[in-house]
Amino acid sequence: MDVQANLQSIQQDILEVCQRVNRNPKEVNIIGVTKYVTIERAMQLIDAGVHQLGENRLEGFMEKYNALSSNEVKWHFIGSLQSRKVKDLIDKIDYIHSLDRKSLAKEINKRATKTISCFVQVNVSGEDSKHGLDSKEVHTFIEQLQDFNQIRVVGLMTMAPFVEDENIIRNSFRTLRLLRDEIKEKKMEHAPCNYLSMGMSNDYRIAIEEGATHIRIGSKLVGSM
Ligand SMILES: *Cc1c(COP(=O)(O)O)cnc(C)c1O
Repeated sequence: MDVQANLQSIQQDILEVCQRVNRNPKEVNIIGVTKYVTIERAMQLIDAGVHQLGENRLEGFMEKYNALSSNEVKWHFIGSLQSRKVKDLIDKIDYIHSLDRKSLAKEINKRATKTISCFVQVNVSGEDSKHGLDSKEVHTFIEQLQDFNQIRVVGLMTMAPFVEDENIIRNSFRTLRLLRDEIKEKKMEHAPCNYLSMGMSNDYRIAIEEGATHIRIGSKLVGSM
């Protein structure tokens, strides 16, 4: 596993796609998802120049945080988050990608000692198995968040359905972008909503074509064991 080579190949893809769809490649942030791998492997990622790391479980996050936080790292929590665990990580993370209910917002707001940048997670495809708000609920939910002054809605996040059909994947990314545009258009102070967290190892090219600003890459970058 050559993390450096994997990173270069992904960066090359970002350049190629951005050129093709006329986007600035600097808008696309790579979040290195380290949930499958060891601290050593995660360290290789930092050495290769990836300074935004993502974890989806509290235990894995704490392990990586304790070992690696002396490095310059921005920490993204990308998994579903139980309210009772918020207090353990809230002062350590920089971004939460999975804000999807009011009770969680309330807990974040109560525990945070600084403003937390949040992505609201949307279940665009409507699959039962997925976390996230229904698209129809997003406007009202984000409006309600203005009462929580420690929460800043920086963007929307989704996971595409696990299907072969590229059109279905593309459609879910596009739907998220249009929703983001609507929210952004409202110019709410607590919800600038500039960002789109979408795209993983198998679908990041499509996500970038559709406007992703934060791609969350695990296996293609660091492997999966
Ligand atoms: C694991 C995970 C990823 C990365 O998955 P890969 O397919 O390995 O790139 C991205 N986003 C979330 C929410 C994840 O849980």
